[in-house]
Amino acid sequence: MAELANEPCLAIEGLTKRFGGFYALNDLTMAVAQGAIHAVIGPNGAGKTTFFNLITGVLTADTGRIVFEGRLLDEARPSRRTVRGIARTFQNIRLFPQLTVLETVMIGEHCRYYPSILKGLRDLLYRPFGEAEDERVMRGNALELLEFLGLADQRDQKASDLPYGDQRKLEMARALATRPRLLLLDEPAAGLNPHETEHLDEVITRIRDRGVTIILVEHDMGLVMGISDRITVLNFGTRIADGNPREIQDDPAVIEAYLGEDEAP
Ligand code: ADP
Ligand code: MG
Repeated sequence: MAELANEPCLAIEGLTKRFGGFYALNDLTMAVAQGAIHAVIGPNGAGKTTFFNLITGVLTADTGRIVFEGRLLDEARPSRRTVRGIARTFQNIRLFPQLTVLETVMIGEHCRYYPSILKGLRDLLYRPFGEAEDERVMRGNALELLEFLGLADQRDQKASDLPYGDQRKLEMARALATRPRLLLLDEPAAGLNPHETEHLDEVITRIRDRGVTIILVEHDMGLVMGISDRITVLNFGTRIADGNPREIQDDPAVIEAYLGEDEAP
């Protein structure tokens, strides 16, 4: 068991992604500990979203390996990686505007069941009963998540009618509905007003406390420095630093990379 506890949630080994001759991610090696809030920061264009796209299978790496919970992450399709236990939110919100808040979270739950041969077989045999029961359980789970994120009162509103900050939380609820063990948050504070950002550290910490390892891409340095156990810094696709918040703040290479940027650590 001791060995298992030491196993990183995610191990990245020599990961490289090129677009033409341009290296969006260049030979990245890093480890994300189980149960950590691990931030990945860097100036715009550093390769952070590309990194998430490689983990979720939206993009395919040119070289390198991703090992999730000790096993090679070699499923090609993003939906298969969701089933393995990896979920994400997007830098630009992606919600179906016509769905209600509750329906949005239930869609996330569907991803967890799909594609399951056993369930397909059971549905075939016990269809009417099975569907009603699934629906009831899924609704209950979705409501619990909405409660958890403080959105239960808005359950019947259209997703697009929510204030921006609540839409971001709804994206988190939908991601959590897939029951991930690793959650990738791509700039969750982007576009939020100071009031909406205020409780984000608490929300992220509470998600981690549910047993979800978190990789946080974020420009809000107050947020990053306040909640991260570890920080990896990228610049032009290359890792330039890796350490705890204090080490990162004092790192000359990091300060240099952020010179002229507003959001220096
Ligand atoms: P970040 O999220 O750190 O701001 P990205 O990962 O989005 O950075 O982008 C890293 C670099 O790769 C940028 O220079 C960007 O223009 C480039 N890039 C990202 N996606 C593509 C793509 N599909 N085709 C070509 N270049 C891309
Ligand atoms: Mg990005």
